[in-house]
Amino acid sequence: MGKLEGKVAVITGGSSGIGLATAQQFISEGAYVFIAGRRQNELDTAVKQIGKNNNVTGVQGDVSNLADLDRLYAAVKQQKGSIDILFANAGIIELAPIGSITESHFDKIFNINVKGLLFTVQKALTLFQDGGSIILSGSIGGSKGYEGSSVYSSTKAAIRSFARTWTVELKQRKIRVNVISPGPIDTPMTSSMVQSEELGEQLKTNLVNAVPLGRMGNPDEVAKAVSFLASDDSSYITGIELFVDGGMAQI
Ligand code: NAD
Repeated sequence: MGKLEGKVAVITGGSSGIGLATAQQFISEGAYVFIAGRRQNELDTAVKQIGKNNNVTGVQGDVSNLADLDRLYAAVKQQKGSIDILFANAGIIELAPIGSITESHFDKIFNINVKGLLFTVQKALTLFQDGGSIILSGSIGGSKGYEGSSVYSSTKAAIRSFARTWTVELKQRKIRVNVISPGPIDTPMTSSMVQSEELGEQLKTNLVNAVPLGRMGNPDEVAKAVSFLASDDSSYITGIELFVDGGMAQI
């Protein structure tokens, strides 16, 4: 028996990177998984890649669009009736140093990372089983200062704060709320931060030099930690921020 046997999980941003690896991990532990993502093609490919024995459904939608969230949860309600695990993982990064931050840069990142995540959680609550587990995607950026990341990093600090409040607000329902905060993980997001392959290699070298374990992490290493927070193995853990960062933000 897998440790998520019989559980129903929802993962936003589940068609690539950390979300996709977590969907795979949850399925290998016995869960049924709904993955939500913006791009239908990527979603279809992901469902084909990880779907075994009809245990995954892809639902297209943008987390910053509340009507799309309603469609996601209507699909979950219709197919499964309830949710045990939510991994609010969808997020974007764009860098801009103070002095050149535009209103559209600010709105775009806050709309997806903060507003989108808040309503992803709030709209799930009516379907949520008491005793369920919510995992929010934070980042080491929420606790550290990196050039160009004032807007992105502050969205992740907001998410860390949400977990403290929701831990208290959802305690009567025994719903646990935790944050997973990755360090540098090799995903499409890391490549999206730079304009060329050469700059990408340079960025990776700089990141690796700042990591005590001396390498970037891979999405599976984050997925295993998310699976721990999703399962009863973490039954007495709520309100925490679990770093999966090779030590980068711990020294
Ligand atoms: P990724 O780009 O591979 O995955 C992000 C996913 O979110 C994609 O599937 C994307 O389509 C989806 N997404 C983005 N905006 C969306 C929207 N508006 N609606 C629905 N889906 C949307 O990147 P990743 O590295 O797997 O990132 C996953 C999470 O991990 C993000 O929240 C990110 O901030 C966080 N994180 C990543 C790293 C890293 O180094 N990769 C480090 C710290 C935190």
